[in-house]
Amino acid sequence: SRMLAAVARPYSHGGKVARLTLSMGMTVYPRDASEEPDALIRHADQALHEAKRKGKSCLCRFDPVNDLRQQEHQAHYTRLVEALERDEFCLYYQPKIDLSSGEVAGVEALIRWQHPDRGLLLPGSFLPGLENTDFTFPLGDWVLRQALHQIRRWQDGGLSLAVCVNVFGHHLQQPDFVERLSLILQEFPDVSPSDLQMEILETTAMNDLDEVSRRLLDCQRLGISFSLDDFGTGYSSLNYFRRLPVKFLKIDRSFVQDIIDNVEDQALVESIVKMAHALNRQVVAEGVESVAHGVPLVRYGCDLAQGYGIARPMPAQAVVDWIPTWRMPDLWAAERPLVDAGDRYGRSLR
Ligand code: C2E
Ligand code: CA
Ligand code: CA
Repeated sequence: SRMLAAVARPYSHGGKVARLTLSMGMTVYPRDASEEPDALIRHADQALHEAKRKGKSCLCRFDPVNDLRQQEHQAHYTRLVEALERDEFCLYYQPKIDLSSGEVAGVEALIRWQHPDRGLLLPGSFLPGLENTDFTFPLGDWVLRQALHQIRRWQDGGLSLAVCVNVFGHHLQQPDFVERLSLILQEFPDVSPSDLQMEILETTAMNDLDEVSRRLLDCQRLGISFSLDDFGTGYSSLNYFRRLPVKFLKIDRSFVQDIIDNVEDQALVESIVKMAHALNRQVVAEGVESVAHGVPLVRYGCDLAQGYGIARPMPAQAVVDWIPTWRMPDLWAAERPLVDAGDRYGRSLR
């Protein structure tokens, strides 16, 4: 600190005043347990760069714990890039049911990593930390292509299914997102873009609501519709909800899991359904873990449902085998309110 203060004092020479800035980096052995002197000097140098990045005139200390974390992150990142090149990712599909007709309304595509040593990995074990990296561009594009491939494959087999993909906010916010998307769609001329849907998180829109709304409208012009995912977990701002051009709102599974006997959750879900319908949006409930969970949802007029109680996410081929086995549970059919034909939103007025 004394060195910083001393250097910061203005110098005068030949009637001119000069100011110098000093940046310092340091590391301390043995907290930094590097045995090699070279490594210690490199770490001090790394800390010096950090001091310059922070705007100079300061002292930074090398942080071994943070450094290890960064190295691990970098190794993980490199391994994921490799996984994409080696084609180790795959998509599983989870059906969504139309609660008024009982029909399969489409599927949500969920990424999996078929790891050569660790087996099938869920996104929770490899996606966190990636959301704001540039890896979301190639990975997001891969998911889109893979979903379109699958729509076409099902279509060739006589099955028409809409596929909903989860889109990284960072990917969607790329300036050329819509251009790239339309190029990808052109690679699949026999797939209708309306069979591709997208789910976004509310946090995606938080940086720049106007920009994201415009982006969604541009995608809509291509024929793609949007869902607002995990509704109720973030800020759940009514302003976002009103201004974002989304067709569906997905109630987060934390509101659905106790819906059977928690009256507050029941009241919340019922009001969310009413509000969404009043604003001309449809509601998807996720986390429907049993037939009993679906009963109040049907009663409240929720439009679509998804969850382990209907089907777990599964490989594409398993979807083909599962569909003929699906039948709307009698308990749900019994709950269905009587509605005038064509009055889709009338149910919410009960
Ligand atoms: P999400 O979009 O909320 O997806 C729903 C998650 O809930 C899935 O987990 C699904 O397997 C799980 N789930 C479905 N029904 C039930 C149920 O009845 N009970 C319970 N407890 N869970 C249920 P999964 O596949 O592990 O995906 C986790 C998250 O990873 C997803 O949450 C999504 O945010 C993200 N994700 C998955 N695939 C992609 C992708 O291709 N792109 C992006 N950007 N994110 C993805
Ligand atoms: Ca989702
Ligand atoms: Ca969700």
